Amino acid sequence: MQTPVPDYLQHVLQACQSNAQGAVADYIPELAHADHERLALALCTIDSTLYSTGDDQLAFTIQSMSKPFAYALALETHGLNSVLSKVGVEPSGEAFNQISLGQDNLPKNPMINSGAITTHSLLPYKKTVSRAEHLRRFLSTLAGRELQFDERVYESELKTAFRNRSIGYMLRTVGVLDEDPESIVDGYIRQCAIQVTVQDLARMAGVLANGGLCAGTGQRLLERAVVRQVLSVMMSCGMYDAAGDWLTTVGIPAKSGVAGGIIGVLPGQVGIAVFSPKLDEHGNSVRGVHIFERLSKDMGLHLMEGTPSAQTILQSRYTVGKNNDVVVYELRGVLQFTESEMLLRSLQDEPTGTNRIILDLTNLTLVHDVGARMLFEGVKRLKADGHQVVVIDSERLLSDTQSKGHKRSIVHTPLDVYLERFASVK
Ligand code: GLN
Repeated sequence: MQTPVPDYLQHVLQACQSNAQGAVADYIPELAHADHERLALALCTIDSTLYSTGDDQLAFTIQSMSKPFAYALALETHGLNSVLSKVGVEPSGEAFNQISLGQDNLPKNPMINSGAITTHSLLPYKKTVSRAEHLRRFLSTLAGRELQFDERVYESELKTAFRNRSIGYMLRTVGVLDEDPESIVDGYIRQCAIQVTVQDLARMAGVLANGGLCAGTGQRLLERAVVRQVLSVMMSCGMYDAAGDWLTTVGIPAKSGVAGGIIGVLPGQVGIAVFSPKLDEHGNSVRGVHIFERLSKDMGLHLMEGTPSAQTILQSRYTVGKNNDVVVYELRGVLQFTESEMLLRSLQDEPTGTNRIILDLTNLTLVHDVGARMLFEGVKRLKADGHQVVVIDSERLLSDTQSKGHKRSIVHTPLDVYLERFASVK
């Protein structure tokens, strides 16, 4: 059997193809040459499976879709408080290139140009490696291939970047930038000229969807807290003055770029990327918005749909041992607050006694800190009731911090091996 997912994506693409509204961005002269008909869609699951269709090999410039990733790199480099002292997180309700600041004289958020130019100044920098080059290398790691700068688009935007220069000088005037604004704006424009395909973008978005982990290599590329911050800002500010409309109709944290791309990230599920050059009055790809609306509706991808994961935490409960005095709880899914509450409610029904209780974490995919705290609080209370409790963590899901102070309750042996060994010594 072949999975129907690629057919479905193709179907969505065809359904949106006839939408000929909008106009290509021409304030960057090189972008005005884009072929209007081009259309592409890619989707990357959190276990790194990539589906794509249409002009999925076509390279275009990343433009404003670089902003969330630059923000992520700035956060990784300087920490949240330091970045917040330079750029706010309030939706501006304005166009992306508005020459404006918040009441505190800081750019309102990192998704509009004033915030993104400031964020660019916070990227790592060495004499021999520019900020834009640092970002290019970082994006290449996220995409899993070496990305290039589009020199023509860069040169073209530089020649007409009067508005971004004004923003740079405004930022220098109020002290948000403390360097030559010309070189920061130059670097920002270079950052926007990194070439990507929808496949690259979907992979990059997939890493964000996976909480900063690259499933392909198992490498952590971004801290979980950084990803949360970036996605929150994408959700509230990513679609500029259309952010409220986007939140209600699509409900996926997203970011658009004036070359015609849009990326979307559904935490814990998928990274999505679309491309088609004609833009609406907000600067968002018309067909791109259309495709996202379709995907969100058809596939139930709206963030506010919620997930029924709490139904699935307890895979099974059974007893083993000669006197049936060993109780095994096999857990599955993700252990967050709701699931832990459900688990603790089941454990509450365990009669007081001295039997052994085994909590098997093997089939969990993720244990959140709150999940670990609640789990071990349950362990403590079961022990206080007289039980012997063992937590099987053969996949080593628990972090050092999560397991700290509970080491004596945790074993790393697989459940079947543990039960066999336990039975033979008993
Ligand atoms: N380089 C473009 C600019 O600064 C990016 C804008 C965008 O993609 N919305 O104007």
